[in-house]
Amino acid sequence: MTRIGVLIEETGGAIKKAVFGAISAARQAEQSEVYAFILADNADSSRLPLQNNYGVEKIVAVAGPWINTPASPDLQARALSCAVDDFRLDALLGLASAAGKDLLARVASLICAPLVLDCLEVDFSRVVVKKSHFSGRTTAALQLKGRPWILGIRPNVFPEVIAPREAEVLTYQPPLQASKKLAIKEIRQGAAGGPDLSEAEIVISGGRALGSADNFRILKECASVLGAAVGASRAAVDAGFAPHAMQVGQTGKTVSPRLYLACGISGSVQHFAGMKTAKCIVAINNDPEAPIFGKCDYGLLGDLFEVVPALTRALSRSEAK
Ligand SMILES: Cc1cc2nc3c(=O)[nH]c(=O)nc-3n(C[C@H](O)[C@H](O)[C@H](O)COP(=O)(O)OP(=O)(O)OC[C@H]3O[C@@H](n4cnc5c(N)ncnc54)[C@H](O)[C@@H]3O)c2cc1C
Repeated sequence: MTRIGVLIEETGGAIKKAVFGAISAARQAEQSEVYAFILADNADSSRLPLQNNYGVEKIVAVAGPWINTPASPDLQARALSCAVDDFRLDALLGLASAAGKDLLARVASLICAPLVLDCLEVDFSRVVVKKSHFSGRTTAALQLKGRPWILGIRPNVFPEVIAPREAEVLTYQPPLQASKKLAIKEIRQGAAGGPDLSEAEIVISGGRALGSADNFRILKECASVLGAAVGASRAAVDAGFAPHAMQVGQTGKTVSPRLYLACGISGSVQHFAGMKTAKCIVAINNDPEAPIFGKCDYGLLGDLFEVVPALTRALSRSEAK
């Protein structure tokens, strides 16, 4: 029996969609028991989507007086490491999101466990995990020694697989005292807004060709019709057209959407390092020699200032119908 905990992340009171992929990844283990851990006073809100559809054995609210937001990541990590111990977990999985990376690394360090972030594949029987290295030029297969394994799954890499099963819902209170070591005073929304770039199912990104911050408006209009997040190349960020939070690539964010629209982006290796696991890449570029045309699924040769607004109009029309 392999006991696997999955850390449930929420946004706006709903479970992040990418979490269901992480649960499906956990279920790949033979004879696995999957426990969903949610940092909350109770698991009621997460109950409905999780309880019957994803093969989860138990939904565990990891609760305490310290849990209310803005909660201390230090205490959350200590609470989770108690849960790993008390539930005798073989592995703890979470999303390789900003919050997930922070929390999983803290848990791994507290319990001296092997940690791999940004996992693309997990083979529980051989305890081998794959992740990309060197800006995506190579994929490393890492053999983990020791237990429990702490794994951050790249959002959207694992498809969610429905598995009907009724989960037991319970509350777990770790024996923790409040700590004054670290507290979050305030959380401010980043400038990017919209869906979280790293976890978005559709991303529309703009490059140097956008020419100004104001021109990103055409991408934002298209994104709002598509339900997409807006990204940018480093050239666009360096030019001050977009904040660094929107940068995709080697020195920016890694995205793995179903659809990636690259508008006025040449297709450098550094940009590809951040989006090459997108399921479908569409490039809009006015240069037939642009390298991105050799790496995309669909290429549109044209001026983005004509193509993108036309796309937005067409999508709005079909949505209205
Ligand atoms: C260590 C290092 C790390 C880096 N990290 C990153 C990173 O994280 N992310 C990243 O993106 N880059 C990164 N870079 C920079 C990278 O090498 C490229 O310089 C950058 O990606 C280029 O951005 P771009 O494609 O927007 O600009 P350009 O290369 O200038 O391309 C602009 C494209 O727009 C097209 N175009 C122009 N006008 C129009 C129009 N009207 N309609 C349609 N198309 C048009 C052009 O044909 C061209 O292909 C890094 C570089 C280094 C050295």
